[in-house]
Amino acid sequence: MGFFFKWVNLFVFFHFLAATPIFSDSSSSSNAFVTTKFLDLAKDPLVFDWMIGIRRKIHENPELGYEEFETSKLIRTELDKLGISYKYPVAVTGVVGFIGTGLPPFVALRADMDALPLQEMVEWEHKSKVPGKMHACGHDAHVAMLLGAAKILKRHENEIRGTVVLVFQPAEEGGGGAKKILDAGVLENISAIFGLHIVPTYPIGEVASRSGPIFAGSGFFEATINGRGGHAAIPQHSIDPILAASNVIVSLQHIVSREVDPLDSQVVTVGKFQGGGAFNVIPDSVTIGGTFRAFSKESFMQLRQRIEQVITGQAAVQRCNATVNFLDDEKPFSPPTVNNGDLHGYFESVAGSLLGVNNVKEMQPLMGSEDFAFYQEVFPGYFFLLGMDNASNEHLESPHSPYFKINEDALPYGAALHVSLASSYLLKLNPDISVVGGKHHDEL
Ligand SMILES: [Zn+2]
Ligand SMILES: [Zn+2]
Repeated sequence: MGFFFKWVNLFVFFHFLAATPIFSDSSSSSNAFVTTKFLDLAKDPLVFDWMIGIRRKIHENPELGYEEFETSKLIRTELDKLGISYKYPVAVTGVVGFIGTGLPPFVALRADMDALPLQEMVEWEHKSKVPGKMHACGHDAHVAMLLGAAKILKRHENEIRGTVVLVFQPAEEGGGGAKKILDAGVLENISAIFGLHIVPTYPIGEVASRSGPIFAGSGFFEATINGRGGHAAIPQHSIDPILAASNVIVSLQHIVSREVDPLDSQVVTVGKFQGGGAFNVIPDSVTIGGTFRAFSKESFMQLRQRIEQVITGQAAVQRCNATVNFLDDEKPFSPPTVNNGDLHGYFESVAGSLLGVNNVKEMQPLMGSEDFAFYQEVFPGYFFLLGMDNASNEHLESPHSPYFKINEDALPYGAALHVSLASSYLLKLNPDISVVGGKHHDEL
């Protein structure tokens, strides 16, 4: 906590030094005003209603990973209207925009753009118009909030002490879009990157996060177990892959229960079992598939190795052959999402100023995964959850539900957090007023 208070003081100090307080015509030096002002700006109908319009438009036309062509076009059209320069295409459909001096320091804000292969079951005016596809994870809201932040930041561009980098990323849902953005080489010299996810598990006006591991690393596997098919009534002439696969699945459950430190949370789940089509036939082969999760790279790699050994070894016991595929190309593994400790202190101070310290919650790690983790392997990064639950509203379903709904009242909170996290961090890195206002050129 010592760090937290030191930071708040530093922040106020830097702010007080500035001849023109950032994003304000007031000369107040109180920390509270600095960021509540951002929330007022985001709640202005000019920004708020505009964000809602964008979010609904994207919601009506959901696009899956690396197919976000219309979403990307909409983003670029809005950036053009705002006069914000950007790079495109980055990682197929991605857009990377720049606001500020064009000079270091660089602070990045990230929004994911992809939808899910899910039929929307919510009946409302802006329901998905694409059968079998839905923004059921709130990425439509994430795009709208980052554009809202861009609108505010652009309006105050000459007060930005460096460059805010806007990362509109494709394919978060298992496609490794973050990795592709990094591989494209457009992000360099980033001092910090921030990302958020809207959730119904916290009330509106609250955020939650933690220092260190927040989401597990996630990988997938698929295995084909080959036997020899034949008549179900004459099993001695066949090699039964159904029984072999059943034993494989039971043995896989022993990895976590018997080999893993109970204090190091890990998961192995088989979610797919396909084989056979008749009551009286032993099939030739069975395919199983699943996911595995862990909070450290070492545990993750150990799981991966043991999954392969158990599948091939246990299949051999049953006289079958097995091949295991970790789907590295189609579903690249996502590392654990690990929040930088210094950024946690920074986040607490900024979010506390914006929302009140009691509305910044400490959360337990979750076994879900987030490909934001790829950025954190390269730059200091921080990810947090943004509450949208409203006690007076109906119950909001979890992400990935066909009944998932967004409480759009949360949009200004996300936009204001983006603005304050980026602008205040640049102010912290570059408090000297004399460097503000350099010529705009793209150094990334
Ligand atoms: Zn999702
Ligand atoms: Zn998501």
